[in-house]
Amino acid sequence: PVRVRFCPSPTGNPHVGLVRTALFNWAFARHTQGTMVFRIEDTDAARDSEESYNQLLDSMRWLGLDWDEGPEIGGPHAPYRQSQRMDLYKDVAQKLLDAGHAYKCYCSTEELDARREAARAAGKPSGYDGKCRALTADEITAYEAEGREPIVRFRMPDEPITFTDLVRGELTFTPENVPDYGILRANGAPLYTLVNPVDDALMEITHVLRGEDLLSSTPRQVALYKALIDLGIAKSIPLFGHLPYVMGEGNKKLSKRDPQASLNLYRERGFLPEGLLNYLSLLGWSFSADQDVFSIDEMVAAFDIADVNANPARFDLKKAEAINADHIRRLDVKAFAEACRPWLQAPHANWDPADFDEAAWQAIAPHAQTRLTVLSDITANVDFLFRKEPVEDEASWNKAMKGDPVALLTTAREKLSAADWSSAESLKQAVLAAGEEHGLKLGKAQAPVRVAVTGRTVGLPLFESLEILGKERTLARIDAALA
Ligand code: GLU
Repeated sequence: PVRVRFCPSPTGNPHVGLVRTALFNWAFARHTQGTMVFRIEDTDAARDSEESYNQLLDSMRWLGLDWDEGPEIGGPHAPYRQSQRMDLYKDVAQKLLDAGHAYKCYCSTEELDARREAARAAGKPSGYDGKCRALTADEITAYEAEGREPIVRFRMPDEPITFTDLVRGELTFTPENVPDYGILRANGAPLYTLVNPVDDALMEITHVLRGEDLLSSTPRQVALYKALIDLGIAKSIPLFGHLPYVMGEGNKKLSKRDPQASLNLYRERGFLPEGLLNYLSLLGWSFSADQDVFSIDEMVAAFDIADVNANPARFDLKKAEAINADHIRRLDVKAFAEACRPWLQAPHANWDPADFDEAAWQAIAPHAQTRLTVLSDITANVDFLFRKEPVEDEASWNKAMKGDPVALLTTAREKLSAADWSSAESLKQAVLAAGEEHGLKLGKAQAPVRVAVTGRTVGLPLFESLEILGKERTLARIDAALA
C-alpha cells in the first residue's frame, strides 16, 4: 500500500510551491487509496515557530487536504513532530556510528574552509575530503585533548548511487559529487539529512514526492537508507519523484519570499480552495489535452505521478484567476452566497453592518456569481446596495460624465420614474430611450446612470442592480448627482 508524506518545516508563511507538493502527495494517496502522512520537520528551533505550525494546519484544512496520520490526529508512528522525536534520532546516529556507517569528524570550520578553497583553486571537487574517515585511536585522543567537539558524518559508499526518479527516470550520482555529510551537529542536534530519511524509514513511506530543489539530497538519502536497511531499521528504499520547479516573473524560480507565492494572498483575495488547487495541479501535471478546469474529485481520479512533467512550470496569475472564476460559476448559488459571506462582514465591508440587507443580497448574488473572478471583489460590487450613499470616486465621475451628463441624467430620471420597476427590461428601455433623445447608444447612456447610482464605472448588470436597489433610492441618487 502507498504511504506518502507531506513534511514541511514550520518557517514563515505557507507558499504555493509547498501547497503544490502537498496536493500531489495527497492526490496520489487518494488515487491509490493509500495513506497521507503529515509530519512537521521542526528540528531547527532557531527558525521554526508555533505560529507557522498553526498556519500550516489551518491552510491544509482550508484547502481540504486531509491527512490520515499526523498532528492532532496521531497515528501508529506518533509523534509526528520531529521536535518530539529527538531521542530516536540520537539512537539511530549511535547505531550508525557503531556499525561504521558514520564517523566522528573533528575538522574545524576554518580547516574545512581552507581545504575547500585549496581544492577549488586546484580545480578539484570541493566537498568534504574524507580526512577523518579513518582516524587512529591516537589521533582521536589527541583531538579530544585539544578540546575539539566532533560532528557526526555519514560515510558515503565509494561507488556511484543510482535510482529511478518517478519523474526524471534513471539518475546516477558519482562519489566525488556526493561527499560524506554531517548528520549530527557538535552539540548533538540531528540535522535534516538524518531525520528526514530516518522518519521516512520508520513511518514506512513508499513514495517521496517533493520539489526538485531537494534532488541533490536524494543520493545521500538513498545511501543512508541502505545503511538503515543494513541495521534493520528500514525495510526498503522508497521511490522518489521530484516535482518540477515553478517559475515566476521573468522566468526566475518562484521564491517563497515572492509576494505572489504566499498562500495567504490567495485566501485573502477570495480564491476558492478548489479553484486554487485546480490551478496548482497544472504546475507540472495536466488533466487532459483540452480541459483544464476540473473538480478535485476528477483530479484525484485522474492523477498519476507517471504523468508529471519534468520541465519547469510557469506560474501564471491570470490563468489562476480565470480557473478560479470558472469554479465560482460552478458553485450552487446558495453555496456562492455563503462563500462570499466573510467579505460582506467587517473588516472588509465598507458599509454600516446595520444596513446590510439579506433579501437584497440574495437577489443580487446570482448576478454577482457570473461576474466575479475572486470573492473579495464582491464588496465593491454590492456596496451600492448597503451604503447610505454610493462611494465617491472622482476618477469614475470624470470618466463617465463626459459630454453633457446633466441633460442625459435629467431625461433618464424622468423615464425611469415612469418605468415599470418590477422589470429590469423596462428600466433598460427607459435608459435606452433617454440615450436616444441625446444621440447616445445604450453603453454611453448607462455610464452616468451607473456612476450616479453605484459610484463606480464598472459593476454588475446595471438594470438588475437598479431593480434590486429600488425606485426610491435610485431616483434619490440621481437627484443627488444632479444637485
Ligand atoms: N522539511 C523539508 C522541507 O520543507 C522536507 C523536504 C522533503 O520533502 O524531503 O524542505
